[in-house]
Amino acid sequence: MTNPTDTPEDLNLNNIVTRQFQRAAEAMDLPEGLLKQIRACNSVYFMQFPVQFGNNYEIFYAWRAEHSHHRKPSKGGIRYSELVDQDEITALAALMTYKCAIVNVPYGGAKGGISFNPRNYSREQIEKITRRFTAELITKNFLGPGIDVPAPDVGTGEREMAWIADTYDAFHPGGIDNLACVTGKPVTQGGVRGRKEATGRGVVFGLHKALESPDDFKKLGLSRGLDGKTVVIQGFGNVGYHAAKFLSESGAKVVAVGEWNGGVHDPNGLDIAALDAHRREAGGIIGFPGTKELENPGEVLELECDILIPAALENQLTRENAPFVKAKIVAEAANGPTTTEAEKILLDRGIFIIPDVYLNAGGVVVSYFEWGKNLSHMRYGLLQKRLEEAKNETLLKAAEELSGRSLSDGLRARMSVPPSEEALVNSGLEEKMSSAYEEIREVLLTHDKVKEMRTAAYVVAIEKIARSYMELGIFP
Ligand code: NAD
Repeated sequence: MTNPTDTPEDLNLNNIVTRQFQRAAEAMDLPEGLLKQIRACNSVYFMQFPVQFGNNYEIFYAWRAEHSHHRKPSKGGIRYSELVDQDEITALAALMTYKCAIVNVPYGGAKGGISFNPRNYSREQIEKITRRFTAELITKNFLGPGIDVPAPDVGTGEREMAWIADTYDAFHPGGIDNLACVTGKPVTQGGVRGRKEATGRGVVFGLHKALESPDDFKKLGLSRGLDGKTVVIQGFGNVGYHAAKFLSESGAKVVAVGEWNGGVHDPNGLDIAALDAHRREAGGIIGFPGTKELENPGEVLELECDILIPAALENQLTRENAPFVKAKIVAEAANGPTTTEAEKILLDRGIFIIPDVYLNAGGVVVSYFEWGKNLSHMRYGLLQKRLEEAKNETLLKAAEELSGRSLSDGLRARMSVPPSEEALVNSGLEEKMSSAYEEIREVLLTHDKVKEMRTAAYVVAIEKIARSYMELGIFP
C-alpha cells in the first residue's frame, strides 16, 4: 500500500509558512489586523529581462520580495534554480523576517531569485545574467546598503556576490558604503572571515546547544552532547558540506550524504574532507571509495541515524516518507524541508524538530557582521589587537611571578595570541545561536499553548515584530 501524497496546496511553501505562522498566532493574544500586517509581504518586484549570448537572446524571469520594513535594510539570499517562482520567493522572504527577529539582527526579511539552472550555463553567461539582474534591482531601488542587502542561497555563492557588489559600485561611483550592498562576498572583496561557513557552523552550534539540555532528549534515548551521534545529511552544497565538516570535527559520525543524483553510505562514518576532495575531482559524491551507493536521492531520508539534516531544498520530508524517517532529531538546515502533514507525522512519532527559522540563521547572523564591517571600513579586532597582546603578556608575567614557574613556550604562545577576525565572528555567531535557543526554549517551557519548537520560535519572532510595529506607531 502506498502512502497518501501531499496535495499541490500542501507543497506550496507560502501555504506552509502561513500555516506555521497561524499556529503561533493562535497561541498569542494579538489584534488580527496587526497579525495580518506582520504576515503580509510588503513588496514584490517581478522582472523579465533579456540577456544576449552570441547571436541569441534569452529571457530570464526573476523576483525580489521585501517582506518587511520594520527594520532596515531588508535582507535575504538570492537563489538560482529552475524551481524559483513568486510563491517560493515570498515565502522565503517571510521566513527571513521571522529568522532575523529570532536571532536579534536588525533587518526586515527579503529574498530574490532567478528561474534558471546554473548547471546549464557557463561562468561568463552566469556573470552576464547576474549583472543584468543587479542592474534591474538598482534601477527599481531594490538594492542598497540601507535598502535591501542580498546574500548567497541555493545556486549562488561568493562569486555571484562579488559581481553584484561590483555592478552596484559601477552604478554609484564614489559611494563610500557601496560594499555593504551585499554580503557573502569573498574576503578579498570586502567579505568577512567565517561567512562562507556560517550557516553550516550555526547549524552545529544550534545542535550543540540543543544537546546540552539532556532533559529535552532523555525520552528519545539520546545522551548529552554531539560526541558519537550518528548523522545523515541531505545536500552537500555550502550548508550541507560545512555542517558535515564541523559535525565530524565535533565528534559526531556522518554516516551518509545525499545529493540530487543519489547518495553514499558508510555506517562507520564518512571522511568528509576526502568526500569533498572526491566530489571536486569526480564532479559528484557518487563512487566515493568504500561506501555503499544509494541510487534513489530520497533514500538518505529514511536511513537509521540519531540526527537527520535536510540541507538541500524545500518539501523533502513529506506525508509519503515521514512515516519511515528513523532519526530521533530532524535538524532543518534547509528552508522549508518539511511539509505541514509530514511535520504532524514526525511530531506524533515523537521526533524532535529543530526548525529552519532558527537553525539556519547562522548565515544572516554573520552577514550582519559583514555588513557592520563594511560600514565601519575596518577589520574586526584591529583596534584591540596590540592592546590585548600587551594585556595577555602582563597576565602571563603575573602568573609566572606568583607561581614562581615559567610557562612553556607553546602555552605562552597560545595564551598571548589575541583573537583573530574569524575567532571573533565565530564567537559572535555562537552567542547569537545560543541565546536565541534559550529564548525559544523559555517559550516552550512556559507557554501552555505551545507544544513544539517551531511554534515557540514563531512566538518569539511575532512578539518582537509586533512590538516593533506598535512602537513605530502603526498600531497605536
Ligand atoms: P547550495 O546550492 O550550495 O547546495 C544545495 C545542494 O543541494 C547542492 O549540492 C545540490 O546539488 C543539492 N541538491 C539539490 N537537489 C537535491 C535533492 N533532491 N536531493 C539531495 N540534494 C540535492 O545551497 P546552500 O546555500 O547550501 O542552501 C541549501 C539550503 O540551505 C537551502 O534551503 C537554502 O535556502 C538554505 N540556506 C542557505 C543559507 C546560506 O547561507 N547559503 C542560509 C540559510 C539557509
